[in-house]
Amino acid sequence: MTLEEAVDAVVAGLTDIRPGLEAFYEDLHVHPELGHREHRTAARVAGRLGECGYQVHDGIGGTGVVGVLANGHGPTVLLRADMDALPVREASGLPYASTARTTDTSGRQVPVAHACGHDMHVTCLLGAARLMATAQRVWHGTLLALFQPAEESGDGADRMLADGLTDRVPRPDVAFAQHVLPYPAGQVGTRAGSFLSAADNLKITVHGRGAHGSSPQAAIDPVVMASMIVVRLQTIVSRELAATQPAVLTVGSVQAGTSGNVIPETAELLVNVRTYDEETRQTVLAAIRRIVQAECDASGATREPQIQEGTRFPPTVNDAAVTDEVAAAFSAAFAERAGTAALQSASEDFSRIPDAFGIPYTYWALGCIDPDTYQNARQRGTVDQDIPVNHSPRFAPVLQPTLDTGVQALIAASLTRLAPPDRTGP
Ligand code: ZN
Ligand code: ZN
Repeated sequence: MTLEEAVDAVVAGLTDIRPGLEAFYEDLHVHPELGHREHRTAARVAGRLGECGYQVHDGIGGTGVVGVLANGHGPTVLLRADMDALPVREASGLPYASTARTTDTSGRQVPVAHACGHDMHVTCLLGAARLMATAQRVWHGTLLALFQPAEESGDGADRMLADGLTDRVPRPDVAFAQHVLPYPAGQVGTRAGSFLSAADNLKITVHGRGAHGSSPQAAIDPVVMASMIVVRLQTIVSRELAATQPAVLTVGSVQAGTSGNVIPETAELLVNVRTYDEETRQTVLAAIRRIVQAECDASGATREPQIQEGTRFPPTVNDAAVTDEVAAAFSAAFAERAGTAALQSASEDFSRIPDAFGIPYTYWALGCIDPDTYQNARQRGTVDQDIPVNHSPRFAPVLQPTLDTGVQALIAASLTRLAPPDRTGP
């Protein structure tokens, strides 16, 4: 049996389970849960995995779930989906749009929606897990279906690892994950090497000396200090990095003072940095520290600035050999619907899991926008304006062919290891 025949044999079961999967997706979409609180989602996932014969490990790192299906000798493959939603008010107009509200960790009432499509990831993985379980004659080895909490806050994978993930499940040889992105549904995109950026979040506090707004001579003005820092930070990417070294630095928040006639004591900046390799990351972070310190010195600040590190995401760097194998399997399965994905300035914590096991991985893009809508926007040159991106209130994957494609992609990738032609015989 060739790899393509094995993929076809497993995917053949999709027709039977499709209505159930679609209903499962719509139910998840109506019932989104914020990170670390995916209790209902995790319980449903664990239930389904158990029904298909997986050994279920739940409660890993809070709400994490891993299903293990041992099917004879052979490699071990890990498939990962994230489960959390976002504090976003959905405006997709879908009949199954979320109207859910919840309290966030600070006690505020917030809307909640699957605005990043993690409900699609969960449903695709459950579909692939089920089909692999019903077609065990065509593959050999062990399959791990891992459902991770709290990707958005960047600490879901870490919590599962801190809770002993690597000791609780068999060690995989390779790991795979996918993410819905605003490309035409039915398409998959692979990329060897750097794919997603690392992200660093910094809170910078600069200290001046407060005074009456009429008496600048009595003050050291933190508003001016912060303003100079904001402008000067723009020169890091434009003047300190090579054109071939991509990075993004955004000052997303500037807070100081409460009144026009009071010079405040302090100013606070929130900075987000995206880089694709550790060297660039260190260059940018060192430049930020240097500029903040120098601007504070230039203003005569009497106290040292504080730079606090917040949420951090690792870079996602796809293994070249693994990606090539998966890309070949996708070309066979999807023909012209398989392609190369562009470098993304989004971030993910998935890579922490394969990194903890010391194994290679690849992570691919799954298109989710109605192909006609996408094509029309492309012809008008309005993709950026008209196609809602992840985290937008209007972001809404089309159910099909996104779901079918995501299920098939996970199966095709798994079978590159679990059903190589020389292992399965005629
Ligand atoms: Zn997201
Ligand atoms: Zn996401």
